[in-house]
Amino acid sequence: MSQLPIADAQTVRTHARALVLQHRSKLVRMLSLYALAAVMALIPAYVIGEITNFAATRQLTSGRIDLYVGVLFVSSLLYAGLSFLARRRSYILGETVFAQLREEFLESVLALPLVEVERAGTGDLLSRTTNDIEALSRTVRFAMPEWLVAILQAVLTLVAMVLVSPLASIASIVSLPIVFFSTRYYLHYAVPGYRRERMSYAAMSGSVSETAEGARTVDAHRLGQRQSTRIEGDIRESFYSEMYTMLMRMVWFPTIESAFALAVATTLAWSGWLALHHHITIAAATTVTLYVVQINDPIDRIVSWLDELQVGQSSLARLVGVSVVRDDRPTQGVEPRNETIAMKDVFYAYRPGHDVLNGLSLTVQPGERLAIVGPSGAGKSTIGRLLAGIDAPRSGAVEVGGVALASMPLAMLRQHVALVTQEHHIFIGSVRENLALAKPEASDDEIVRALEAVDAMEWIRALPEGMRTELGTTGHQVTPAQAQQLALARLVLSNPHTLVLDEATALLDPRAARHVERSLNAVLRGRTVIAIAHRLHTAHDADRVCVVINGAIAELGTHDELVALNGEYASLWASWRNERPEAS
Ligand code: ADP
Repeated sequence: MSQLPIADAQTVRTHARALVLQHRSKLVRMLSLYALAAVMALIPAYVIGEITNFAATRQLTSGRIDLYVGVLFVSSLLYAGLSFLARRRSYILGETVFAQLREEFLESVLALPLVEVERAGTGDLLSRTTNDIEALSRTVRFAMPEWLVAILQAVLTLVAMVLVSPLASIASIVSLPIVFFSTRYYLHYAVPGYRRERMSYAAMSGSVSETAEGARTVDAHRLGQRQSTRIEGDIRESFYSEMYTMLMRMVWFPTIESAFALAVATTLAWSGWLALHHHITIAAATTVTLYVVQINDPIDRIVSWLDELQVGQSSLARLVGVSVVRDDRPTQGVEPRNETIAMKDVFYAYRPGHDVLNGLSLTVQPGERLAIVGPSGAGKSTIGRLLAGIDAPRSGAVEVGGVALASMPLAMLRQHVALVTQEHHIFIGSVRENLALAKPEASDDEIVRALEAVDAMEWIRALPEGMRTELGTTGHQVTPAQAQQLALARLVLSNPHTLVLDEATALLDPRAARHVERSLNAVLRGRTVIAIAHRLHTAHDADRVCVVINGAIAELGTHDELVALNGEYASLWASWRNERPEAS
């Protein structure tokens, strides 16, 4: 199964740059506050250097002590206050940016062509909406601001060091090559490692969720062993990919730590030597050494957040990747000339080289009832998908009034053709909201009429809050038959002239089915109906019957004509009637 695309580095950079530019002024204000706070944090080391100097030269009067204590006190207070303000701004900014990213992501997910989602499986999407969003949230809320702040502190400390004594500062350079090369090495090998880690999570949640969703199939075909082997394989892969990145960290972190210790030791020795030989003051030697100790902290943070930023970057690549998927539908389209549905010489393949429809042609006149019958696997449901405009044929055309169904904007498509399947989903929200999905601008009156048309108003009036009653997993639970009625009422609202019925009532118990069938008949009235018939009495009642075998039309005509023909349909009909003597 192919995963959804992952954005390349260039796209991610462009995206990140646009985001920064958009929030530029807020970012600058936040960083200015942090810079002021960082300057306050530089004062104590300087003051301690001065105190040491006066102590060494026995000039430390109580007046000076008071002054320095006062400076320390005020600078600490200012540091605390400025940090507080800066941090508050950075959290607000982080939340704003994260909310924006999440909304953009949600929009691209909702705009994903159905075919792409099916191709990639739910696992990948699930992993992106959970793991990756969470990773990105950590990056945007904490890692990114902390990292920027740490860089700012490190740079300012470095500048202060050089201002105090460029000569003494030189010694700290010894650790630079170690930090630089080990970090470069780490990033070079760790980035692909983190990407692999993310992909392994996606594969793992994919296998688990697909096994859980298809639990019945897994049981029926005794695929349990095979699925657990697969899941174990996925877990092993994610274990090894985590081991790999952990190993990288295990080498890199201690290297960085040693580099810090080395820098402090050499600066202390070098500046001490300089002070002893009167090249610099004791104050400068003390202050510079303290700055080297102090700069360890931001550098350590820069380096350790890099880790999180890598994770964030690969998550962002996966989230932005979703928006890279080309929307397969234009926002505007040509209006069909009429309501005639036509399939012309249609070939279709789920996998290249394996056509399941082989040059099928079929025209359905407005108002006609057409039943499609045939053995299982013949391609009936595939015809349904194409007629509903979910996917386009590999070659040939599937059109309404001369316009290709798969090229129509969704809103327009829904007014022409709708697919009715046995899957009916209740969304979390009120009864009204569940219906308004089909027509957001619908008035209360229209919604009530739609519910009355499917005979559902009675039980809805009996609900605690009528149409405002909350449904879905957290609200009122409806029966499968009621859920089906709501789905039908949605159809009444969107009012397409053609319905493609696929096993519409097959999963319901017979008593509920009869009730739903009445609602269904109300919805079908006055529309073109293409029924993928699994029970032959539907075919018996249809205007025409189309027998599909191996992705092509074997027979086409009225029930009586086909029975008289004495071919495939006649034998299907005969065996069906023998099984159910009451049906004739
Ligand atoms: P029917 O509805 O007549 O039972 P389908 O249209 O579901 O037949 O399937 C026609 C053929 O296409 C079958 O061989 C089936 O295995 C194959 N097929 C259906 N769906 C998919 C899919 N998502 N991916 C690959 N092959 C598929």
